Amino acid sequence: MLDSIKNLYIYGPGPSSSHTIGPYRASLDFVNSNKKDFNFSRIDVILYGSLALTGIGHGTDKIIKDTIEKEFNIKCNVLFNIDEKKLEHPNTMRFLGYNDKNEVISNKYFSIGGGEIVKDNLSLKEKKNYVYPFSSFNDIKNYAKEHQIEDLSKIADIFEDNNLNSYLLDILNKMLKSVEVGLSLEGVLPGTLKLKKVAKKMYENALTINDAAERKEMLLSAFSYAVSENNADGKMIVTGPTCGSAGIIPSILYYYKNYLNTNDEKLINSLKVGAFFGLVAKQNASISGAMDGCQAEIGVASSMGAAILSYLNNLSIYQIEYAGEVALEHFLGLTCDPVEGYVQIPCIERNGIGVLRSYASYLYAKNIAPLRKNRVSYDDVIKTMKMTGDDIDPSYKETSIGGLARILKK
Ligand code: SF4
Repeated sequence: MLDSIKNLYIYGPGPSSSHTIGPYRASLDFVNSNKKDFNFSRIDVILYGSLALTGIGHGTDKIIKDTIEKEFNIKCNVLFNIDEKKLEHPNTMRFLGYNDKNEVISNKYFSIGGGEIVKDNLSLKEKKNYVYPFSSFNDIKNYAKEHQIEDLSKIADIFEDNNLNSYLLDILNKMLKSVEVGLSLEGVLPGTLKLKKVAKKMYENALTINDAAERKEMLLSAFSYAVSENNADGKMIVTGPTCGSAGIIPSILYYYKNYLNTNDEKLINSLKVGAFFGLVAKQNASISGAMDGCQAEIGVASSMGAAILSYLNNLSIYQIEYAGEVALEHFLGLTCDPVEGYVQIPCIERNGIGVLRSYASYLYAKNIAPLRKNRVSYDDVIKTMKMTGDDIDPSYKETSIGGLARILKK
């Protein structure tokens, strides 16, 4: 069963869907769901697992404190527990609310990826009201075949509610705006890395490139950097499917809107098609770096981007699947190792590379897919991603203990 597209493209505070949007939503939920019956005098929040290990770099403590103190005027302390190893989920938070008599109420939250949260009982994840009666991409394809549907976006129109299009128009505009804002800013990103923002300069340089193919690739890269730099700056962002991988999809949409005059309706429909690839990944593996490494973030985003590009270029359903499959297949095993815990190195550059992977996969789908039957389905690659994610050592899953984070540690 698959969730709604509206739970895949979520607008919230960057730089990390699991480390800022999830904790932000948990903070709102904890206070809003208890304040009628409980008079808070203070709230303590304990972060565990990946949230404790990379929470400072990702700004988890700041977003929780800001939300509780500024929106509700309640004093808040955020504590980090890196010793607890027996966790149901690597992104676990416990909220403890106290009143004047020192009585306490408590809820546990799991930030399961892409900004989504589960409260108290992780198994509740399985009891959601799902929108689609599909468990795999194969199910989606079979439904399309059975009902003679050639445009995959129509399946979203059949199963989602009537306001999906207006929701996605808003998401589209927020994504486009995010590119514009990123292209206008210069300076240094927050945090100890002192990383310079380069999207604006990349864009200006790209415009001067004579070779059309090179210019196009550098423009796509610049747009992807623009959104990723906004995200690293902690600005409001749309998950695509996560904050860390938020640059890839807006980059494609911005290019098609501004350079190829594609209309909003087609762009919105492409978001629906791309979403199926994200939803299948979310349901059968994860879209969380803390669960499965960066293959689940940049890998899945590239896959969604490849499907979007193929749809925008009117490729067949077979070719759209080919593109989505190829983009992820060659990112299998990609680890998550953010340096100093910031969503900056390797994340921003990885968004630039990711959109080029989407583009290359679309080209393969267009030119190679018709030559022979693909032996690997999208569902096969998702199963492989899950298996690989289970085998990846925890130090390469958003803990900043292994990989580049270890090599570049000061
Ligand atoms: S390395 Fe990838 S998964 Fe990890 S924080 Fe960066 S973008 Fe997200």
